Amino acid sequence: MIATDDRKTRLQDAIARKGMRYTKQREHVFNILMDKRDHPTADEVFVRARRKMPSISLATVYNCLDTLVECDLVRQVHVERESTRYCPNLSEHAHFHCEKTGQVFDIDFPEAFREGIISQLPSGFEMDAVDILIRGKSN
Ligand SMILES: [Zn+2]
Repeated sequence: MIATDDRKTRLQDAIARKGMRYTKQREHVFNILMDKRDHPTADEVFVRARRKMPSISLATVYNCLDTLVECDLVRQVHVERESTRYCPNLSEHAHFHCEKTGQVFDIDFPEAFREGIISQLPSGFEMDAVDILIRGKSN
């Protein structure tokens, strides 16, 4: 499958760029995050990882996640008082946290919103990254 090959190449390039080693475990953890984009915690990734790789340890999963974050392939999502979650969506987006179910969704924001935020920055500063969490619940 072409998509999977692209993914693997992207992973290999990003890891090589940081001078790190490509491992089966890192590939496996990356695929888990790419396959189901529901912002899992490390513990949830660990449960999924063991299905196909029963020997993988929680420490290894944490290590893989740290590597993927360091290689800018995945970003951390912090929801107050909860374990860190992981998101492989690298396009600029915000997160919506449902307070009833705990689910975290990606939400794109319109260009006008982005421009609005930029217009409010202190003068002489520019925006590098966006980290917005919106809380709410289903009605
Ligand atoms: Zn996300």
